[in-house]
Amino acid sequence: MTTESALDTALSQLRRAIEQLSLSENEWQTLSTPRRVLEVAVPLRRDNGNVEMYKGFRVQYSTTRGPSKGGVRFHPEVNMEETIALAMLMTWKCALTNLPYGGAKGGIAVDPATLSLAENERLTRRYTSEILPIIGPERDIPAPDVGTDEKNMAWMMDTYSVNAGFSVPGVVTGKPIVLGGSLGRTSATGDGVAISTREALLHRKINPLGATVAIQGFGKVGYWAAVALENMGLKIVAVSDVHGGVTGFASIKDLWDHFLVNNNLDAPGTERMTNEELLHLDVDVLIPAALADSITEKSAPKIRAKIVVEGANAPTTPEGDAILNDKGVLVVPDILANSGGVIVSYFEWVQDKQNYFWDADEVKVNLNSIMMRAFKEVEESATSGKVTWREAAHMLGVGRVAQAHRLRGLYP
Ligand code: NAD
Repeated sequence: MTTESALDTALSQLRRAIEQLSLSENEWQTLSTPRRVLEVAVPLRRDNGNVEMYKGFRVQYSTTRGPSKGGVRFHPEVNMEETIALAMLMTWKCALTNLPYGGAKGGIAVDPATLSLAENERLTRRYTSEILPIIGPERDIPAPDVGTDEKNMAWMMDTYSVNAGFSVPGVVTGKPIVLGGSLGRTSATGDGVAISTREALLHRKINPLGATVAIQGFGKVGYWAAVALENMGLKIVAVSDVHGGVTGFASIKDLWDHFLVNNNLDAPGTERMTNEELLHLDVDVLIPAALADSITEKSAPKIRAKIVVEGANAPTTPEGDAILNDKGVLVVPDILANSGGVIVSYFEWVQDKQNYFWDADEVKVNLNSIMMRAFKEVEESATSGKVTWREAAHMLGVGRVAQAHRLRGLYP
């Protein structure tokens, strides 16, 4: 098991980029420090009348290139260190994809499965109210992440708007369409993972048609990636959720239809496997799309996939990463592979600001064009600089933030 925290990992990736870009110690100091860190107490009145206290967080890691942007996570293991690490990754991701944003992250240390719908709403609204002074369409724009979805975004938007006295759809992204959400946002991260997968296969000269894929995590990212990849002609051979994996299903559509009715993956004809067995399948592409740290020094040696596309944030520890690189596995890093979500969030924010809404094709075409531009930049700079794709992606993202710092100067 790794002993590094998510923050240690993020800082060591930043340190490496700083060295490779020959940036100064002053720049390291600036870039390794989050701009604003807020911890709040979030009291919740349970349906039975009891009051419980939860810890909430919001980290605005950088606002140098624009308002900060990042998801809100409801998970029992949410803590300040991890939130800082994820906000840092968002900063490099937004810079890599050239979106006019800094990076942020937030969340509550709570298991949403233990909340009734009404409790979830009260908790979301109180959290929004506690972080209200630092969010806004020009300051910091939350979005869904693990354990939250469009209903949480609707409550956040409403809480902010009630306090403002008028409707402010641009305060969050990932909203329901009728409240100013964007077409294509729900599937955007998975669509971007699929684009990255297709391009990585072409880079390795493997025909995407019929290429085999295993996906760990069957949530918002894993499910939509599976749908998009199946539509592109790839074969999804296994998927998993927190309870383990399955193989042998006829199609993702069949599996999903079964899941919606039965709330499990045991569709007719499927066979069970553990999450670890899924990681070690002999497939062309492995997509970790659950939580952090699933590819470690323990699980990496037995990975047989030729390509790993990181749907989740930070799914690979530095030790796991080194092993994959030694084995010649191409790793498409999280800040590139899963950037489709924040790209379409950006489209949503632009549409909300202009009160002018795009059709689904416009979203799709623009997502593909931004993903392809970022992908080609990473591919070219990894090849020409003889560095890994993760290093190339970080150098591009960190380099752009450093340049923005230099040009803005230091006040006063
Ligand atoms: P989600 O809550 O919708 O789905 C998570 C999935 O992972 C579920 O199927 C869950 O059962 C499964 N899972 C949880 N623990 C697991 C375990 N130990 N082993 C195997 N499976 C497990 O979350 P999501 O939005 O799909 O996010 C997944 C990852 O992608 C996270 O790292 C998130 O930060 C990242 N991400 C999400 C988005 C987005 O737009 N939702 C964008 C970029 C990155």
